[in-house]
Amino acid sequence: MDPDEAAPPIHCARCVTELIPGRGEFYVVEIEAKADPTPPILDPSDLKRDYKSEINALVAELEHLAPQNQRVTIHLCMSCYPAWIEKPAS
Ligand SMILES: [Zn+2]
Repeated sequence: MDPDEAAPPIHCARCVTELIPGRGEFYVVEIEAKADPTPPILDPSDLKRDYKSEINALVAELEHLAPQNQRVTIHLCMSCYPAWIEKPAS
């Protein structure tokens, strides 16, 4: 079996040019997005409360609200990459 037949074609994420692996003609860009990893801000006056159940409720709420971390992989041809890396969010 020819492994080249099984591999799906790779296209530049900007100009959609087909990219051929092994020719050094593209960049693989891995983007990892993380939800705010900072612990929640706690008000000291809240410590008088039944914080155990409140923390449980807070954790449940955060799990509901916080998006999952996401990893996206894109390919960029040598023509598109220099412009993209200058302004990756545009
Ligand atoms: Zn391109």
